[in-house]
Amino acid sequence: MKKIKTPSFIIRKEKLENQTNDLMKTLSETFPFYIAGYSFKTNNFSWIISYMREKGLWAETVSSDEYTLAKSLGFPINRIIFNGPAKGKAEFIEAVENGAIVNIDSKRELKWLKECNSSTQNIWKIGLRVNFDIEEQCPGESQGGTEDGRFGFSLENGELTDAINFMIANKFPFSGIHLHCSSKTRSLNIYKAISAIAVKIVKTFNLNLNFLDIGGGFFGGVPGKPSFHDYFVEIKKILASTINLEKTTIIVEPGISLIGCAVDYVTQVIDVKETKHNHFTLLDGSRTHIDPLMRKSSYTYHIEQSETSSKKFVNQILCGFTCMENDRFFHLNYAPLKEGDLVVFENVGAYTMGLSPQFIEAYPRVYVEEQGHFELVRKKQKLPL
Ligand SMILES: *Cc1c(COP(=O)(O)O)cnc(C)c1O
Repeated sequence: MKKIKTPSFIIRKEKLENQTNDLMKTLSETFPFYIAGYSFKTNNFSWIISYMREKGLWAETVSSDEYTLAKSLGFPINRIIFNGPAKGKAEFIEAVENGAIVNIDSKRELKWLKECNSSTQNIWKIGLRVNFDIEEQCPGESQGGTEDGRFGFSLENGELTDAINFMIANKFPFSGIHLHCSSKTRSLNIYKAISAIAVKIVKTFNLNLNFLDIGGGFFGGVPGKPSFHDYFVEIKKILASTINLEKTTIIVEPGISLIGCAVDYVTQVIDVKETKHNHFTLLDGSRTHIDPLMRKSSYTYHIEQSETSSKKFVNQILCGFTCMENDRFFHLNYAPLKEGDLVVFENVGAYTMGLSPQFIEAYPRVYVEEQGHFELVRKKQKLPL
């Protein structure tokens, strides 16, 4: 650790490998046909995306820029899943005509299908994103709550029926449904409810699906929380009653469950200051790098001190480099930290690097660690002009 420069993100290759191998193995043991699409938005660092591609995952993208990034990082279009509410028209049409899995989110995208070259219809893979009341079945667990989720066509008010009828009336191939749902809890119940909704839709509309996209939002690598095996077994139990898994490909779109636990953020103490009431410990990192939305209330971390200090414990507030008063990580009651001591934040791979603002300092360095060897994979950046 002493060899690396701080602050920096460290990708732990072994942990990443464990998560990814566990996902792919569990999928292959559970479902005859499956696809895993890595959720770019969870962490869009190119080294990580390329790693996922080499592991056989597809790209799960939610904007034209992410779709374009997938192509430039070597995903063929027919290994891209194109989701999201605000796709660009040119990218949408290219994706449809070249066999990407395109999950339609809005009426404007339905209209765009009329502008796609109909001679390519034999390779279209069009899904409809379904909006459904998950809060009713899992009270208190959904992100949208009683205000509803905001993506896809509503099952309850008939918009989904209209969208399906539009596909049929225009003789557009309609291959799948997309049921991603971001929850607060990531509980097994959420996935049981999603599976039950899938069954209901298949029965109601008498569908023969080529694919069923469950989405992401799973826990992964968190002790005491469900594993991929726990989720997939429950999902399969419910689906198998109605859906022929020999004919329907199950798609999952994991993000946080793969990368969350595989990244650390290393910071170093650069100064210590006493005030009238407090003892502040200044780190060279910032909360803006690992809690960009400023809503974490606790952190997993460990401390590496050069020499064990025998002094009595002191209440310290660990702070970051920015000039914002609230750039405070947490209170620590511990032997006083000194210049050069390291504070290592763990499990910070999801919704951090991709959301880090260029605020006061440019993006920090990124290393990949494998068996104690550190490789610098992103240099210290400069502020943009
Ligand atoms: C965000 C998102 C995911 C990934 O969610 P995680 O919680 O990071 O696993 C997957 N699919 C869609 C459509 C998303 O918006």
